[in-house]
Formats: sequence, structure tokens, C-alpha cells
Amino acid sequence: MNQRTARKAARRSVGSVRRISAPWAEPDAKALVEFRSVTKSYGDVTAVDGLSLSIYPGEFFALLGPSGCGKTTLMRMLAGFEEPTGGTILLDGVEITGTPPHRRPTNMMFQSYALFPHMSVWDNIAFGLKQEGMARAAIASRVEEMLALVRLEGLARRRPDQLSGGQRQRVALARSLAKRPKVLLLDEPLGALDRKLREATQFELMDLQADLGLTFLMVTHDQDEAMIMADRIAVMDHGRIVQVAPAEEVYEQPANRYVAEFVGDVTIAEGVVTSVRGHLVHIHAPHFGAIEIDEEEGRANVGAPALVALRPEKIQIGHDEPAQPLNKVRGEIWDIAYLGDFTMMQVKVGGDDGPLVKAAIANRTRRMERPFAWDDMVWLWWDVEAGVLIDP
Ligand code: ATP
Repeated sequence: MNQRTARKAARRSVGSVRRISAPWAEPDAKALVEFRSVTKSYGDVTAVDGLSLSIYPGEFFALLGPSGCGKTTLMRMLAGFEEPTGGTILLDGVEITGTPPHRRPTNMMFQSYALFPHMSVWDNIAFGLKQEGMARAAIASRVEEMLALVRLEGLARRRPDQLSGGQRQRVALARSLAKRPKVLLLDEPLGALDRKLREATQFELMDLQADLGLTFLMVTHDQDEAMIMADRIAVMDHGRIVQVAPAEEVYEQPANRYVAEFVGDVTIAEGVVTSVRGHLVHIHAPHFGAIEIDEEEGRANVGAPALVALRPEKIQIGHDEPAQPLNKVRGEIWDIAYLGDFTMMQVKVGGDDGPLVKAAIANRTRRMERPFAWDDMVWLWWDVEAGVLIDP
């Protein structure tokens, strides 16, 4: 079993991503795409700001960030639709800055799909191949191969307006893949699909990428989508990359407050380091009392200000005071949001001017009566592994 097939099998069997290889951590690995100090300005606006990034062959890479952070601009520069104001872009070690889009081994699938409305599915997929001057027989066999790949064999003669949203998405994908690009660029590829179809398509896309061994670069502002699909995520803010890491690391070890708050729900306790013993760090945080965390040695210094990020699913909630001496706080329930699979509580700690702490409880049973109500006084507590120190 090769690595990709193994990875795919792992995804299928456990339903989550288990990475077999991590080329970005290998010193000798050669990048497929390299952005070197790339800047793009439009007048006064700096859309991409001195950004450097390497993407490796076979990666499913996601650019994640809020609207306007520069993700689309970065991808359009790789595709050749925009030229950088400064810096260089390399593909397979060769500088591609200045090469027009159709001469680059990249292909971009747009959010709108941009299918030709008057052409059949078959002709839409064949379009780029005809433009390239490929022989008729070769085009026919490639189109058939693509139709089979995206499971649209029966619909080749239909026009785009005779298809569902999900089918149109697959035609766009088949058309983008037909030219066998080295890198497929996906701009919010699932934006037009409803939630169920979106989820199904996420897995299809991941399988397809693994089967073909291609490199995918996806732009999204949807953190769940990035976490589910990508091998690595680059979180962007104002034209810069704040953190590049696999999803688990971005979630569990966010680089700073911006990443912690953008990816998932979080409570951030602000305090001062009061003691460091090996990897055990004590922080005094107003409203929270004494917090103890397990941190990498050398990350905290006594007397320094500290931010501790606490994810809601790591915080427990109950009416009785827990036995543990630290990592607990009493508060009042301000809000309860029932979300089906879990309930998100917001608890006001430390009096009226204190912060709201988010705690999630999994709804494991179908019991209809709720154990907690608005205005209840409760205890929140967490383990020493729950909190993580983050940069401001
Ligand atoms: P979204 O998710 O909304 O697409 P984005 O992160 O992809 O956002 P970009 O489209 O890359 O963001 O835009 C980054 C910044 O550059 C924004 O401030 C945008 O207004 C600006 N910008 C993008 N294209 C142009 C342009 N052609 N002319 C002037 N400004 C531009």
C-alpha cells in the first residue's frame, strides 16, 4: 500500500485524518510551490505583505482567513492572474513570475464554477484540451476518464442548467482536472452547496486528491472545511501568515490570540506567571484564580504577563465544587445554546464585570430535562493539560 492509499484507508477506517508523512518537517523535502517574500499592493492597499510559504507535492493545503485577508490574491498570483509587486514565486524550483496563466502547470476552479452555459457537460470538460490542441481521440478518452472520476457518466449531454448544484460542482472539478495540472487551485470550492452535500463532497474531494496524488491549494474562510480537508492550514491576517500547521496544531496550539479566536471557540484568561516548576506553570488570572498548566519548558517566566487559551470542550461544569484545588472557578449561567450534539454554556465568572467562559457539554443521552438552567450558580473546572499559553 502506498502512502496515499494508506492515508485514504486510514481516513475511511477511523473517519479522521491520520497523516503518514509530513514532508514539511523533513529538511531535505523539495517544495512544489514556493512563495518568497511575496508582496502585492493595489495603490495604498497591501493585499499580500512580504509572505513566504512552501507547499509540498501531494499536499492538500488550505489558506484560511477572514474576508479581505489576501487569500484570493495569493492564489491568483500563483495562477498567473495577478503579478506580485515584489518577491518571487517558484513552481518545481523554477520561477514562474511573468509566465501567463495558460502556460503554468496550475489550474484554478472558481467559486462560481464558471461553466459555459451553452455547452454540454462533455464539451465543458473538453474545452481546455481542445484549446491545447490535443488530438480528438485523446480528448475523448480523457473526457470519459474525467466523467468516470467524478461519477457523471450518464450526464455528459446535459447543459449546466439541467444539473444540480453538486453536479455542476463536479463538472467544474472534472474540467479543472482534465489538463492534469500539477497544482489545482480551489477558490471556496464548496461555497454553493448545502450542508449535507458539502460534507459528502468534502470527502469526495479528499479521496480524489489522494487517488490522483495531486497537490491542492484551497482558499476558504470556513474553519471547519479547512480542518476537515487540509493536511496543513495557513491562517492569514492582513496579508501575512500568522501560523502554518496541521489542523490539530492550529486548534490545540494556536500561535496567538488571533488564531485561537478565529479557529473554534475559546476563552482567554489574562494573568501573570507566578511560578514555574519544570513544565508546570502557575498563572494568577483575575476572575479565574490560580491556573496550573502543563507547558513546554522554557516558555514561561515568573512575573511575565500570560494569556491562557481554554477550549470549551475541555471545561467541565457541575453544581458541586470539584475536589481539585486549582483550575476551577464559580460562576453564573448567562446563556445556554442547545446545538443538538452538544450544548454550549456561557458562564459569567468573577461577578458582573468578569468575563464569560464558554463550556461545551456533549449531549450523550436523549434525556429531555436539562441539568442546568439560566441563572444557576455552577462550578467550572479543567485539567492541567487543558490550558495552553498563547502569544498576544
Ligand atoms: P474574500 O474571502 O472576501 O475573497 P480574501 O481574503 O480572498 O477575501 P482578497 O480578495 O485577496 O481577500 O483581497 C485582499 C485585499 O486586497 C482586500 O482589501 C481587497 O479589497 C484588496 N484587493 C483585492 N483585489 C483588488 C484589486 N483588484 N484592486 C484593489 N484592491 C484589491
